[in-house]
Amino acid sequence: MRAGGHPALAEAALTPFWLDQPTVASDRQPPLTGSTHADLVVVGGGYTGLWTALLAKERHPHLDVILLEADRVGHAASGRNGGFCSASLTHGLANGLDRFADELDVLEHLGRTNLDAIAVTLARYGIDCDWERTGDLAVATESWQADELAKLAPTARERGATVHLLDPPAVRAEINSPTYVAGLWTEGDQALVDPAKLVTGLRDGCLSHGVRIHEWSPATAVTAERSRVVVRTSHGSVAAERVALGTNAFRPLLRRLRWQTVPVYDYVLMTEPLSAAQLGSVGWRRRQGVSDSGNQFHYYRLTAGNRILWGGYDAIYHFGSAIRPELERRPATYDRLARHFFTTFPQLEGLRFSHAWAGIIDTCTRFCAFFGTACSGRLAYALGYTGLGVGASRFGARAMLGLLYGDDPEVGSLRLVRKKPLPFPPEPLRYAAVQLTRWSLARADGNGGRRNLWLRALDRAGLGFDS
Ligand SMILES: Cc1cc2nc3c(=O)[nH]c(=O)nc-3n(C[C@H](O)[C@H](O)[C@H](O)COP(=O)(O)OP(=O)(O)OC[C@H]3O[C@@H](n4cnc5c(N)ncnc54)[C@H](O)[C@@H]3O)c2cc1C
Repeated sequence: MRAGGHPALAEAALTPFWLDQPTVASDRQPPLTGSTHADLVVVGGGYTGLWTALLAKERHPHLDVILLEADRVGHAASGRNGGFCSASLTHGLANGLDRFADELDVLEHLGRTNLDAIAVTLARYGIDCDWERTGDLAVATESWQADELAKLAPTARERGATVHLLDPPAVRAEINSPTYVAGLWTEGDQALVDPAKLVTGLRDGCLSHGVRIHEWSPATAVTAERSRVVVRTSHGSVAAERVALGTNAFRPLLRRLRWQTVPVYDYVLMTEPLSAAQLGSVGWRRRQGVSDSGNQFHYYRLTAGNRILWGGYDAIYHFGSAIRPELERRPATYDRLARHFFTTFPQLEGLRFSHAWAGIIDTCTRFCAFFGTACSGRLAYALGYTGLGVGASRFGARAMLGLLYGDDPEVGSLRLVRKKPLPFPPEPLRYAAVQLTRWSLARADGNGGRRNLWLRALDRAGLGFDS
């Protein structure tokens, strides 16, 4: 089946590039069968779950830790994302300012410390995930976006970031696109990774500490029973002292969480490797991760092998919070992404895409992760990263462990950790609200950034999204 009708998509495989590499672990961890005990059960084998298991063992080596994964470790968002590992814990500075202005200095500091700690962990375990601390380049393709970047620059500087505001020649000297009218380059606060290699490295780190990982073991229920929490799977159960949930966009095990996130499909293309001449025509010597600055935005980057990953723009919610493999196939979106790619880089006409895929992000109404506990404090959860969880998931793990073991007061006292986002309404209102918001954001992009009545109402209610 073809990814789309665009000629550059003719041979694109409908599978995530990162998971299609020989570096992906081929050995499988056995499913859970029968009943057993553990000190800590982690549900979910993405970054959140893996970091939770790894940090738990590093801090409390005596703990017996089990990790349950419904499918293969890293098969979901963690193995198929863009690989932008950002220092931000708040889905960017603008969202942080809107929602957590009073503690943003602390959050920015914790975010940079978190990013540094990821780099230290990679070195400690010898994890080669093509880590490149390239920083981040936000580009403007319209003058209203340039104005917003200019406004953000001094605020970012005040918060300790090293930023450079770039005029049209300067931004095109970084990366040669005729569509750019300005740029904001932030040094150091972002690294690029191969997401699947990072998953494998964290998995191997967990195994080296004796974490028992069970793949193909979907948790079907969690119940508080006397002084334990029992996690049931299709073929077994674990009675645990503590439970950590890192299940991201998937149907939550706790009923109360069903109102807090919606699964949104995000789409990505990967090109074939660029020749030296093709790369030379683009420049990109500093290899920054790039995003453009519309409400509907693209994100793109070079890989270690000099392919270009190109994703974003369409973010699709399906009625009833549906999650189904066939929803990953969306020719109209892949075609749109391909067209936008060649508008941005007309000099690359003729380049082909080797892969096209989709993944699910866990959107919440505050657009950054939230945390909490249940079962009298014996169970903790972290979710809601809304598409920026590669770096923040390590912080999510730290927050869950702090809540479960009460040994991390710096994190436990944060408003970011204590406060919950507003819930989404039930269907059919939920679908209508998401569609209206998408439509309004697209209109704002075509209308000099001007927000309509609906977006302004959301902004006033503290629900406004601004990329
Ligand atoms: C296409 C795409 C691009 C993205 N790009 C970026 C990016 O460049 N930078 C960035 O910061 N973020 C990005 N993200 C978001 C980022 O990938 C996620 O925020 C992050 O991977 C979340 O990790 P996680 O472990 O919480 O979730 P996941 O990786 O989704 O893992 C959750 C795991 O829980 C398992 N699970 C769920 N329910 C159960 C159950 N009942 N029992 C057992 N297991 C269960 C699932 O099978 C899954 O493996 C992107 C996401 C997508 C989809």
